[in-house]
Amino acid sequence: MEHKINLTEEEIPRFYYNIVADMPNKPLPPLHPGTRQPITPDLLEPLFARELIMQEVSSERYIQIPDEVRKIYAQWRPTPLFRAVNLEKALKTPARIYYKYEGGSPAGSHKPNTAVPQAFYNKMEGIKKITTETGAGQWGTALSYACQMFDMECEVFMVKVSYDQKPYRKILMNTFGGVVHASPSMLTASGRKVLEANPNSSGSLGIAISEAIERAVADPTTHYALGSVLNHVLLHQTIIGQEAIVQMEKAGQMPDIVVAPFGGGSNFAGIAFPFLRMNLVENQKIRCIAVEPESCPKLTRGEFRYDFGDTMGMTPLLPMYTLGHDFMPSPIHAGGLRYHGAGVIVSQLLKDGLIEAVSQNQQRCFEAGMQFIRAEGIIPAPEATHAIATVIDEANRCREEGVTKNILFNLCGHGYFDMAAYELYLSGKLNGESQVTDESIRASILGIESLQP
Ligand SMILES: *Cc1c(COP(=O)(O)O)cnc(C)c1O
Repeated sequence: MEHKINLTEEEIPRFYYNIVADMPNKPLPPLHPGTRQPITPDLLEPLFARELIMQEVSSERYIQIPDEVRKIYAQWRPTPLFRAVNLEKALKTPARIYYKYEGGSPAGSHKPNTAVPQAFYNKMEGIKKITTETGAGQWGTALSYACQMFDMECEVFMVKVSYDQKPYRKILMNTFGGVVHASPSMLTASGRKVLEANPNSSGSLGIAISEAIERAVADPTTHYALGSVLNHVLLHQTIIGQEAIVQMEKAGQMPDIVVAPFGGGSNFAGIAFPFLRMNLVENQKIRCIAVEPESCPKLTRGEFRYDFGDTMGMTPLLPMYTLGHDFMPSPIHAGGLRYHGAGVIVSQLLKDGLIEAVSQNQQRCFEAGMQFIRAEGIIPAPEATHAIATVIDEANRCREEGVTKNILFNLCGHGYFDMAAYELYLSGKLNGESQVTDESIRASILGIESLQP
C-alpha cells in the first residue's frame, strides 16, 4: 500500500538522536537566577533522575534506548506514516503530502514518547512517585500512563479552569492511576498562598508548576517531570523523525518541507531534528517549519533573551525566544501551544537561521482542520491543526507555481477530547483571538531585561 507505510517492531529506533552534537553553535548554558552563573547538574538532582540530567547536558550524538522502554514503545510504535491523497485531491495540488500519526498512542499524542523513558529512569533510581503539572491534560495523561507501566504513583496538578472545563481528561488520568488535584490546591504552600489572596483563583500553569515542584522537593522518593522544552524531552521525541526517514525512503521520496506545531518544541524537534541532521551533515536543504499560534508568537515576534521557564520564576534562566514570562496569551483551544518561551536548542537553531517559524490564527486553523478531517477521516488535536494550516498554505503555493514538492507534517495528537472546541467552531461561536500588540510584547520583554547577565 502506497498510502500507508508501516514499519515492523524491529524497526523501532534503538537510539535517541542528540542534535547538539551536530549544531554549529552550541546552546548557551542555563543560568542560576541568583548568581547568574551556569547551573551545575547537582542543583537538578532533587527533581530529576541522574540519567535524565546527564542527557540534559549531553553532547553525545546517539543515546541508547533501554530495552524496557522499547518494549513499551512497541505497544503503539512504530507509528504509521500516511500519504494524504484525499487532501491532495481536495486541494488540487501537485504536492505530495505525508503525515506521521502520533495520535494512536495510549494518551492520544506524542507525549508518551518521553513520559515512558522519564518514568523508567526514575524507577531505576528507586523513585516511587512523580509529580507534574498539566494544562489541557495531554501531558498529565501521558505521565499517568507511563507511571502505571512501571508501578509508580503519579500526582498531577491540573490548572483549575481546565479541571472544571475538561472533566473527561481528568477521568482519563484517573483511569491510568493518576491522582489529579485542581491547582491552586491546599496541599502546598504555593497553592495556599494563592488561595488566601484569591479563593476563586482559576489557576495557571505557572502556579501548577510551583505546586508540583514543591511536592517533589519535599520528599526524597518523589521526583518531578516536564513534558516539553527541556533538552532531554526533545531528545526522546526524535524517534518520530527517525522512523519517518525510513518510511519516506520506503515511499521512494524525501520531504522538501517538514512542518510541526510548536508549543515548547518537543513534537517539532521530534520530527524535524533527524531531517535537520541531513541538512547539517549531508548538505541536504530540507525546510523545517515550526508553527505557533498568532496569539502566542514567541518565535515570530518574541526576542532571544534569558528568561524563566515558568511564570513564577522557579526555574533556572534559559536562553530562548520568549515573550517574557509575564505574557498572558488568549485562552485559545490549542492549550498545548500557550507557552511564553521555547526550548533552548530550538531557539538556537532559529537564531542561526537553520529552521523557520510562522504563525497561524485560530479560526484559520480550525478551517484547515475541518478540511483535513473531511478528506482524511482523522480528527486532529487543535494544536495539530496549526501544522495543517501551514501545510495547506505550502500545498497551495505548489499549485500556483506548478511545482511538485514533498511536504511532511507531524499529526502529533488526536482531538477526540476536544469536541467542545469543534462544537464552537461548527456553530460559528469560536471566539476571535485578541490581537497581540507590539506594545504588549515590548512591555513584557522590558520586564525581563533585568534578568540578563
Ligand atoms: C503538548 C502538545 C503540543 C505542544 O507541545 P510541544 O512540546 O511543542 O510538542 C502539541 N500538540 C499536542 C497534541 C500536545 O499534546
